[in-house]
Amino acid sequence: MKLSLHPRERAGEIPLHDPLGMRSLTAMNRAEHQARIREGEVLCMGGQLAEGERVFRDLLFEVRGRDRKAELSALHSLAVAYGMGGRNFEARMLAEAAAAVARELGDDKTLARCLGSLCGALFCLEVSEPMPRLLDEFRDAIQRLPEDERAPGTHEYCGSLLAHALLTRDLGAAVGHLARYEQTFPPEDVRDPTATAVLRALEARIHYFGGDQNAALAVLEKTEGLAISRPNIAVEVAVHWVEVLRAAGRDAPALERGHQALRLLEGLIDEPFTCYDRLEKGRKLAHYLDELGASEEAHRAYDIVAAAVLEHIAQLDACARSLPELGLAGDMQLQEVVNARKGYVAEQSQIMKRVAALLERDEGGVARVLAHEDDGFVRICAWCERLKPQDRGWLPLGQFVPRSGPLRITHGICPACAEALRV
Ligand SMILES: [Zn+2]
Repeated sequence: MKLSLHPRERAGEIPLHDPLGMRSLTAMNRAEHQARIREGEVLCMGGQLAEGERVFRDLLFEVRGRDRKAELSALHSLAVAYGMGGRNFEARMLAEAAAAVARELGDDKTLARCLGSLCGALFCLEVSEPMPRLLDEFRDAIQRLPEDERAPGTHEYCGSLLAHALLTRDLGAAVGHLARYEQTFPPEDVRDPTATAVLRALEARIHYFGGDQNAALAVLEKTEGLAISRPNIAVEVAVHWVEVLRAAGRDAPALERGHQALRLLEGLIDEPFTCYDRLEKGRKLAHYLDELGASEEAHRAYDIVAAAVLEHIAQLDACARSLPELGLAGDMQLQEVVNARKGYVAEQSQIMKRVAALLERDEGGVARVLAHEDDGFVRICAWCERLKPQDRGWLPLGQFVPRSGPLRITHGICPACAEALRV
């Protein structure tokens, strides 16, 4: 069988289980497999995540059930790619599947990497319950490795301990884990301003949770002037400034930082695969801007969040389709996807209510009728929760499936609702 067929053409041709090993990869195509994994990694590192994901996904189709070792590397690479793109839900599921294969093969080195990816996804999803068990397994896997192979795993392990301590608000432990995490950094990373900014933001977060906002501000000062190479990290730091200044009761500088954060957030729209960041950071920022009385800016932030929510729902739908296709999903996993989707649909409704409240509070806001201009924006009515794509009529939100890639949204009131309100 040729290995270069498209997966959809092969669907159904390759048995998921091959007990006789008749179709095991030969040594030659194992080398080809490794080369393609590297190709995918290069694409991901260069920011071409969709292309990288496609490489790993195709590989997974080819080797699933035929070569467990090759399957493990494809699964883990795909989990890492999803994690890089902020698709934490999928990253979690794939890392769990990869860890199961690594356990079966007794591959401790890859098991440690899978557990690191899994803890990272759980941290982003704010799920702490499975972490203590995973952390014990993580530690044991590293200890079984030869001493000269332990460093990367130990670094990831310290990061995962820190993530768990932050999630459970065990701040004393978090301070210790942060110090250990920094110690395990290779020297070249210590000089990387983006990595430094991430660490300082984590340190500031520990003080913020502990209620010591002055200490948090002093730590955030250290991020000033750092050349942060990843725009989503720059947004995270900027929003954290607003959060801490707000908690310190310093509203004027908080508002100033809020404007700055909004500009950075708006810059993220043109960055592919920042849906998670736009959603999570935008939601916080919109809330603070609203509290600080900056209605117009809060409205703009909600426009960004609403677009990210729609994109996220589309991603979950794609996930629900592809998990069974990849042979990964059981009823429980699919139920989790369904529940997560329900959560985002509820969130969508919440955003509409907040935007409608903002517009009502604004004197001229109700008059902000959404025109039918062809400027690339999708228009959403915050009153009836219908949406108007550029070239079509008004649709209920649930009937709209965004194409992949960043989406631009503007909220207001549709002509019909505006008419009704005037009566
Ligand atoms: Zn309407």
